[in-house]
Amino acid sequence: MKYLIANWKMNSVNLDLWEQKFVDFINSHKDFPQPSEVKLIVCLNLYDYFVFSKKINTSKNPIFKNISLYAQDVSQHEEGAFTGQISSKFLANIGLKGSIVGHSELRENGDSETNVYKKGLKLKEEKLSNIFCIGEDLETLKSLNKKSFLLNQLKAFCKNGLEPDLLAYEPIWAIGTGIEADSENISSAVSIILNFLHKNKINCPVLYGGSVSTSNIDEIISIPGLDGCLVGNSSLDGEQFAIIASKIKS
Ligand code: PEP
Repeated sequence: MKYLIANWKMNSVNLDLWEQKFVDFINSHKDFPQPSEVKLIVCLNLYDYFVFSKKINTSKNPIFKNISLYAQDVSQHEEGAFTGQISSKFLANIGLKGSIVGHSELRENGDSETNVYKKGLKLKEEKLSNIFCIGEDLETLKSLNKKSFLLNQLKAFCKNGLEPDLLAYEPIWAIGTGIEADSENISSAVSIILNFLHKNKINCPVLYGGSVSTSNIDEIISIPGLDGCLVGNSSLDGEQFAIIASKIKS
């Protein structure tokens, strides 16, 4: 099984157009991978969730119907005076399947390793899945500290029975910049991550995120050990997302 995750962030997506372009592409490509071959996930804001989940539930297209919907963040707290935050209980009650935790855009805004860990625990309490994001910044890469940086992030999350359900390696310098990481850099990160997971008897798919597009997906997805991608900008258009999905097969 391979995975393709869309992260719409706080962008305005025309949901009707997205669905139409996505479904049109599928209908004209009979060899589009089946839900048993590629799991498609869209991480979206709650307003879009209410509209998009209705579309998915009422769709006659079996591939569109199988898209899973996740949040982009979750509170580390149970409930109370936490203005603007959304609890894992609330996500579960409205039907979301899980959430991203540890996205670099949230880490940059103050999410520490401890917060990310607590968010993972909160999702687990509600039996929701986590998409755990890790990745180094340019300075860390240049100072050759990538390995210890990634291992620290992994160790801070994988403890006391908490494990990633899906893990995305997202080098910060490649997110939203149009500069995708080169294959060598992705391969070395994947092997650091897989070694850690193997040693700790954790079995979870490892994805890459950072400026994935229709033009570099073939090269990226052929990197050994990768189980899929997490896509920001290129996921905002239903056709581009479908083209990327069509190239990700087991
Ligand atoms: C992301 O938001 O995690 C991401 C990878 O974005 P982009 O594809 O735009 O770099």
